[in-house]
Amino acid sequence: MASVGKKLSRPVPRYDLLRVPLVGRLLRWRWGRLVGQLLLLAVALLAVYDGFTGPQLAPLNLAGVLVWVHYRGLVMFALLFLGNLFCMSCPFTLPRTLARRFGQGKRRWPRKLRNKWTAVAVLFVYFWLYEWFDLWASPWLTAWLIVGYFVAAFVLEALFAESPFCKYVCPLGTFNFVSSTVSPLQISVHSQDVCRTCVGKECINGSKAVSGCGTELFVPQIKSNIDCVFCLDCARACPHDNVALAWRNPLVEVTRRDAWPRRWDLNLLVLIFAFIGVGNAFGMVPPIYQLQTWLADALRIENEGLVLLLIFAVLHLLLPVGLPLAAAWLSRRLAQRDEPLRHTLARYTPSFMPLSFAIWFVHYAGFHFLTGALTIVPVTQNFLLDLGIGWFGQPNWALGAVLPAAWLDPLELGILLLGVALSLYVVGERARPLRDGLPAQLPWMLILIALAAAAMIIMYLPMEMRGTMFG
Ligand code: SF4
Ligand code: SF4
Repeated sequence: MASVGKKLSRPVPRYDLLRVPLVGRLLRWRWGRLVGQLLLLAVALLAVYDGFTGPQLAPLNLAGVLVWVHYRGLVMFALLFLGNLFCMSCPFTLPRTLARRFGQGKRRWPRKLRNKWTAVAVLFVYFWLYEWFDLWASPWLTAWLIVGYFVAAFVLEALFAESPFCKYVCPLGTFNFVSSTVSPLQISVHSQDVCRTCVGKECINGSKAVSGCGTELFVPQIKSNIDCVFCLDCARACPHDNVALAWRNPLVEVTRRDAWPRRWDLNLLVLIFAFIGVGNAFGMVPPIYQLQTWLADALRIENEGLVLLLIFAVLHLLLPVGLPLAAAWLSRRLAQRDEPLRHTLARYTPSFMPLSFAIWFVHYAGFHFLTGALTIVPVTQNFLLDLGIGWFGQPNWALGAVLPAAWLDPLELGILLLGVALSLYVVGERARPLRDGLPAQLPWMLILIALAAAAMIIMYLPMEMRGTMFG
């Protein structure tokens, strides 16, 4: 059973969303999560149905538009203004109860896999396959992808305890966990004293009516949003009404020294996530095709998948591992400190998050969502027409953009500049406790500035408007 040590005092949350009238009640309501999950399940089923049976041109199909334009854009807005709302309403975990009834569900996830290495591997493979098979352009493959998520979640939930699908495998979960480290909401407790004297520790052990934390987080010890799926089971299970969904400064987690463990897997995941942000946008601008052709000719490789694998091995693995390791080595030397390289790396890794989030936000929300959100209107009309329902008129395929195109470039530039400025600020904050001087911070600042410059150049290149009729 978990225990609460004396050293775990944390600031009492000042603003608790769970105590806001009506909203709090709705969130804590026993079936509250289920309502959100059923809604998203309906959306997923519509996407699967249209993906298998509808037109196979992505901008005409619900699978093409809902998944690659709306899901990704809305997730970014939710993460920016609230937190990990997608995992809170995730439909893939709906069959969990069923799975646990069928399976044993008691086996422990293998010890060797209880880290983020699987998540790193899945994330890398996912973004490679995404480009290779043009998943965004194929409603049929998108439908299969959704089915695959349901099957994988069901099988892993049936076999193992500790929600291993969410915690160690799911690339969407990984994306949301890492992004939510700069979100403004976090699970916390009102009083550490109450937790110290709490006998049942129901938030993790569960009560008669509600199960404890599925990902086995112990609320009074939570310092980070990593691994929290915002299911709020802890709040429902706590008999002392001591759990808060607290507002926080979005930078508090990445500036606090002890928020993340100094593990290779977690820190490299965050770095790889940042570089994939740039690599994924690079996959949608013309130079990638020139690079592919040049590489294929130079190495005499005919297989496109292999060429893309080589490109992404460099962009998504070699650079995010090599550059920060070199920076950590240099930084440690310039600070004249004798410490494991892992500690230096872990000190500065969180500084990538504001920029990294800005890059993903600009790409998914600032570009694809704002240029294609209204496509949902004609696509839905078309879907209904195919079902013989003509009440909503004929589709107007000119609908798409939410904002005038001229606004996008300055908006994206502003967000990227803000992201890099905040990242540089975090570098300074993380250097402060150990009094690392400017020379020790410089290698990190240079990588951040180079990453931001690469993102800005890519965003200014003509990008495929995937998921819209202009794509
Ligand atoms: S059940 Fe509530 S009071 Fe008990 S340890 Fe968990 S959060 Fe604290
Ligand atoms: S701490 Fe656990 S139970 Fe509470 S919201 Fe997060 S994942 Fe759910």
